[in-house]
Formats: sequence, structure tokens, C-alpha cells
Amino acid sequence: MNDVKANELAIDGQRFWSTVMRSAEIGPGVAGGLRRLALTEPDREVRDEFRGWCEAAGLEVTVDALGNMFARREGREPDLPPVLIGSHLDTQIAGGRFDGIVGVLAGLEIARTLNDHGVETRRPIEIVNWSNEEGARFGPPMSASAVFAGLQSLDWGLSRADADGVLFGEALKAIGYDGPAPVGGRDIDSYFELHIEQGPILDAERIPVGVVTGSYATRGFVVKVTGETSHAGPTPMAKRRNALVGAAMVAVGVNDIGWRYAPDGKSTVTRIDNWPNLIGIVPSQASLTVDMRHPDEAVVRKMAAEFEDVLADASKRANVDMRVAESWGYGAERFDADCVGLLRAAAQEIGAPYIDIVSQAGHDAFNLARMAPTAMIFCPCKDGITHNEAEDCADADVFPSVNVLLHAALRRANRA
Ligand SMILES: [Zn+2]
Repeated sequence: MNDVKANELAIDGQRFWSTVMRSAEIGPGVAGGLRRLALTEPDREVRDEFRGWCEAAGLEVTVDALGNMFARREGREPDLPPVLIGSHLDTQIAGGRFDGIVGVLAGLEIARTLNDHGVETRRPIEIVNWSNEEGARFGPPMSASAVFAGLQSLDWGLSRADADGVLFGEALKAIGYDGPAPVGGRDIDSYFELHIEQGPILDAERIPVGVVTGSYATRGFVVKVTGETSHAGPTPMAKRRNALVGAAMVAVGVNDIGWRYAPDGKSTVTRIDNWPNLIGIVPSQASLTVDMRHPDEAVVRKMAAEFEDVLADASKRANVDMRVAESWGYGAERFDADCVGLLRAAAQEIGAPYIDIVSQAGHDAFNLARMAPTAMIFCPCKDGITHNEAEDCADADVFPSVNVLLHAALRRANRA
């Protein structure tokens, strides 16, 4: 049966939400959210559960060498590249129950819905769970999709290290998700990602669907600061080479850049590590992570140039050496016009109110956009609160975007 009318095809909201709520039991945090860091035991548990759901829906699950999971619903023409739908099941250390998760499970619900109605598609549809989207354990974020998209090497992906020095590849093996499939290197028809907005706009305006047209340009840096240990008492002020002081000056300088470009510009020091971090000794090593964003790529380049000045000034004042040990970034990606158009058309067809919106957060979709036609859709989250255990979504606020995605993906998979 392939003649289901578009307006008759809709997800089973109750089934979808009960699946989201089952995920919310795996890796509980301390305040009602989730602590499901990449490649930990809770991550393994949710992966096992997801695999079980997919197999019960008749999907064929494959896992690649970085633990990315693909659940394939075969198409009438299996040789055509698949339409990918997905997001991530890992969370921040104090994360919410919906960030990433609704996107993966929306894909599963779409497959289940197509099964219910006996709908065949011309192209295969694959539901994907990207490993380590958050970067909360292994930096940087979105590392596994970056390798899939050919932006980084497999060795780079496997050699990411956590704070204890455990390598991504070791941790992946330990949870049994070092799969046999190669990472990327195959054609993808298109990629669709549904995600909570992680901002307040949709919730405040009571609009259930945001069609994402593009993203903020982003730059990330890891700065290593090198000073020298000495006694905190007798060492004269002029002789001190305090790495922590240098790092602190950078933190303040980076924050000032954000204020100069506010409200659109944002710049943040998210993390400082300090060694030996003991009473009585001037620290000799510090490392800090910097994040800068602005909707205009040219402006974020200016912000990055000012960041260079901050480093030079701080290293002089603190009498320490500074170097950028790692950097990453993505431009103000514009999503594929055809895929974005499909989302708008689907929203109109099923009568779901929508607005165009720009993403301020990073997503695997930005990596995929470099290799295949890509689009994203946002659903509201309460007050825009996210990366926080209080993150919350009302089920009825999420259903419209899943249905929009269902119809857009169906059209894309069936196009001539
Ligand atoms: Zn996310």
C-alpha cells in the first residue's frame, strides 16, 4: 500500500513519547535530567535499547569504527544513496532528556509509522545515532560526524582523549561499539536532523516548528599556557610565571570580546585546567577552552583576531608562554535550499505553524552539510533552557516537528 494520503499519515505520538521517556531513565543525573556521557556504561545501555527498538521495527543496524549507529529501512531501489535522519543519544554531564534524543527517536518513530501504513520508499531511509556529539567527555564536539563527513581522519577520531587520558578508541571498545563498518566514504542522498531549539524563540512565540536556514559561525580553541613552578611565598612578584594568572587574563579578555559584539556575538571560556593546582606552589601549566560565535562569518573572524591580541597581551603580563594547541570551527552554514523547501512545504501541507530560524548551537548537521544536502528542524523547549537538567519539552510541542520531518523525508526518499 503506497497510496496513503499525506494528511492521513501521522506519527503515533504516544508511542514516540513513551520511547523518549524510556530513554530518560537511562543514565539519570542528580536533578531530573541525564548524565549520559559518550561511551560510558549508560551510553552503552541506551545504544543497546535503541538497537533493540530498531531491530523490532525491522531495521538493519550497522555500527561503524567510531560507534556511529545506522538503522536502515530498505528502499525499493537499495542501490540509491539513503536519506539519513538522526542526531545523538549522548548528553552533557548535567544534560537534559531531549537534547539530541528527540532527533534520533523521531527517526525511529518515522520508520515505525511508515511500517504501520505499509509505506515503501524509493530510496532507503537510515536512522543515525552519532557518537560523541556533545564533546563533554572527548573534545571537540561532533567529532564522529566530522570523520564521517571526511573533515577529519579516523585516527584523529579514535585518538581523542578524555580528562583521565582514556582514548576514544579504548572507551569505544570497552562498551563493545567499535563496529566493523568503515566511517563514511559512501554517498548520502541527504541528511535531516530534528533538534530542540536550545533557545527561547519558539517557546516564547508559541510556534511549534522552526525551519533552520543556517547557523552561527563558530570558532573553538584550546590554549596551552606554560609558566614555571615556584614557591608561592618567597618568589618575588617580578619572577613569577604563573600559568593560572595567564589563563585567567585570557578568560576575562575573551569575555570582553563577547561584550563588544553583543548581543549577536558570544564568546566564552568554558574550561580551565590548572597544574599542579596545589596550595603553596605557583602553577606552571594551564589549559583553557574558548568558544566564539556570531551569525556573520566576517565578524567571527574579527573576534578571532582580537582573541590573538588577548593572548599576546596576557602572555606578556603574566610572563608565560601561550600557544593555540587545537582549533576548530564551522562557517555560517546555509542548509540545502531543496531540503529546506521540503520542510516548509511539509509544514504547510499538514498545517503546522512555522518560522525560519538560525541555529546558535553546533550540530552534527553542520558537518553533514559539507558532504550532502542537509536541513534541520527545531522544536520548542521550555524557556530555551538546555545543557541543564531542567531542560524540558511538552510532548504536544514536539509532535508537529516530527510529522513535518516525516513528510519531508518521505518526499525526499521518493523523489524521481
Ligand atoms: Zn544536541
